[in-house]
Amino acid sequence: MKMKRGDAPKTRAPKSVPYVRHGALTRKSRRDREQWARCLKDIVNRPLRTIINLLKKDGVLPERHGVACPHCQRSTLGPLKDFGAKGGGWAHMCKGRDCKRRVLPHAFHPIFRVGTGKSHAGLGDQAAILFCAVSGCTQTTVRYLLKKNHKLAESIYKSLYDARAKYVRQEEKNIRFGEDVEWPGVEADEVDVAKGEGPIRKRDWAPLAKKWLKQRKVILHTDGARSYKLRVDGVVHDWVVHMKKRVKVNGKYAWVKPAFTKVRYHDIADNGCSNKKKRIWVKCGTQIIDRVWGGLRRHLGPNRKVNSRALANKVRSFQWCYWNKGEDLWAQTGNMLTALFQQQHE
Ligand SMILES: [Zn+2]
Repeated sequence: MKMKRGDAPKTRAPKSVPYVRHGALTRKSRRDREQWARCLKDIVNRPLRTIINLLKKDGVLPERHGVACPHCQRSTLGPLKDFGAKGGGWAHMCKGRDCKRRVLPHAFHPIFRVGTGKSHAGLGDQAAILFCAVSGCTQTTVRYLLKKNHKLAESIYKSLYDARAKYVRQEEKNIRFGEDVEWPGVEADEVDVAKGEGPIRKRDWAPLAKKWLKQRKVILHTDGARSYKLRVDGVVHDWVVHMKKRVKVNGKYAWVKPAFTKVRYHDIADNGCSNKKKRIWVKCGTQIIDRVWGGLRRHLGPNRKVNSRALANKVRSFQWCYWNKGEDLWAQTGNMLTALFQQQHE
């Protein structure tokens, strides 16, 4: 495959070259105009039955009526029934004559906990905390809003990050760059999320480039870091050199990459029709990924342990939020949990 990397001034560029990545134009997120189908009012101070029905409808709880009993694996569970305070409240009873065990609507749930004890809370309280977590409240804010102890909030937040991480790792297996559009733009960059990490090295980048980009027919946009200049088959590389600027933020000096784009073209000859070349105009730069890092740092918060599983899951959790930017996050949480419930049964 032959390719040529050209700068705009030497040849006439189209009037405007839009910033396109993965075949999609960049769009601004308008959080101030978003509305979700649910609000906290729908979940707090409601009868438990109402909350259970709502959570089932939203996909946050699985439907248990008619599914195999998790205890005996032989019979199916009956409808949701109130067994009274002494009988454990709302539950599904196994129809098996020698089983008859009761299964709570939120048993074996990736986020909710069943149990008793001092720090335990009912399903309604747990659902309210989850709603706050999904809508972006900090754990401290949740304590003020719902007057619950910090252990409970901590456990729900952690389970939410873990559930998102599991989902993202699953979904990532289906990502194939260059599948939907021809020669899409892909950005790569690295970020320090914890102390003790240096810039990316060629030996870190090589396996990633091979796994995700080799033969995918993509245009890779990076900064000028040397590691990215590795030649990869099926990848056209474009980079912009960021001159770092020293700016004062909140009284402190920091080095930042300035927003920087450049219009270039690539003459791409596909194998099989080597005489015919296609000219693709692109706007170079790593603006999207540069902006993502700020959001990631906010999501991770100040306390980060290097190489911990919790940190890795929180990074994945941010990835989930990024994928669902501008969406009804509660509805998307329901979709995610429903997908995870289905995996449990496979
Ligand atoms: Zn059973």
